[in-house]
Amino acid sequence: MLKECVECSNQVSTDADACPHCGYRIRGRDQLVDCRHCHQSVIPVTHPHDTISRYCPLCSKPITNIGCRRAFQIITICVTTLILGTIFAIIAWFTKVFQ
Ligand SMILES: [Zn+2]
Ligand SMILES: [Zn+2]
Repeated sequence: MLKECVECSNQVSTDADACPHCGYRIRGRDQLVDCRHCHQSVIPVTHPHDTISRYCPLCSKPITNIGCRRAFQIITICVTTLILGTIFAIIAWFTKVFQ
């Protein structure tokens, strides 16, 4: 099956994710993000060692997802505060008990 690309009017297979002539993405347009490094519309990819950040598949630079990063920072701060608070509470309890 072939259909016309909306960008370059060439014939493109309906199974293609992107137009082979102009690179216009046919599928997954809702996931497209503008990379601020190479100024292209890309679908972000994740790295196996870093599942929080998403990267541009073209220039491999991180695409800063501010909402996600902020949420992660807040969670990290909360967890750290909680752990430190617990440790200090235990230390305080121990110093009281063994005095
Ligand atoms: Zn095209
Ligand atoms: Zn990029």
